[in-house]
Amino acid sequence: MVRAVDGVDLHIDRGETLGVVGESGCGKTVTARSVLKLIDMPPGRFEAGQILWQGRDLIPLSMDEMDKIRAKEIAIIFQEPMTSLNPVYTVGDQIAEVIALHQKLSRKQAIAGAAEMLRLVDIPNPQRRVHDYPHQFSGGMRQRVMIAMALSCQPKLLIADEPTTALDVTIQAQILELMQEMKERFGMAIMLITHAMGVVAETCQRVTVMYAGNVVEEASVEALFGDPRHPYTQGLIRSIPRVDRSAEKKQRLEAIAGTVPNLLDPPPGCRFAARCKFAMDICTQGLPPLKEVGPGHYVRCVL
Ligand code: SF4
Repeated sequence: MVRAVDGVDLHIDRGETLGVVGESGCGKTVTARSVLKLIDMPPGRFEAGQILWQGRDLIPLSMDEMDKIRAKEIAIIFQEPMTSLNPVYTVGDQIAEVIALHQKLSRKQAIAGAAEMLRLVDIPNPQRRVHDYPHQFSGGMRQRVMIAMALSCQPKLLIADEPTTALDVTIQAQILELMQEMKERFGMAIMLITHAMGVVAETCQRVTVMYAGNVVEEASVEALFGDPRHPYTQGLIRSIPRVDRSAEKKQRLEAIAGTVPNLLDPPPGCRFAARCKFAMDICTQGLPPLKEVGPGHYVRCVL
């Protein structure tokens, strides 16, 4: 059995952007999908714990009950919009379906609502483009369509799972800016799943760093970048290219040697121990607890 996510405890406040960072395989996506119970069950399952949405535990809810929460209260967008959009329906039909389901509108009203959402996400000629199919949009435009669909019911929380990874750098910046605009317009919170620390620094208020299915550090953006405590977080930050270094201080980017442990047989103590230059015997004797080291700053490390 693989415990893809183990002992993760995180919260998101109304209207804030929480970054969830870590390298591939650290459990970010499973965490994001678990919030909406979008993991394949079976074989996936929740062994224990709670997913509290405004005080209500979502774990015991049936799929019908979850459908009332998905899109309307919590929406999600994924990395590759082409796999999330249905190629045989127009984008208008797909957005209208979500609107009609949750707002009990006629098809004509829902299509008008879909065009309005396309206008909000800056798609030119929305009245015409609402009748186009996904393949008629570029990658960046498809991600705008996904954002329009996700926001069509004005959710209180948007989960964005690596929303810009598949896009060109210039388009990435536009999509992040659009998400920020939409966040302010709708007053929603965003859980931004990413492996890009630069994106976190620019867009988030708080950050949770995950490693091998565990949360290893959680802090405000200022505290995390100004005073990173966990060796893994320090490594992530040292791997960010900097343009503000003078020529004399120029230095090579550092990589974190090694790979994430196999979660089929995770190490008994700190899961980062095999890659940590500070590792000691005590690190392998049990999973270190998450300890508060400053106001709202938590670290899972014996140091
Ligand atoms: Fe490194 Fe030990 Fe801290 Fe783990 S607990 S990060 S091995 S010092």
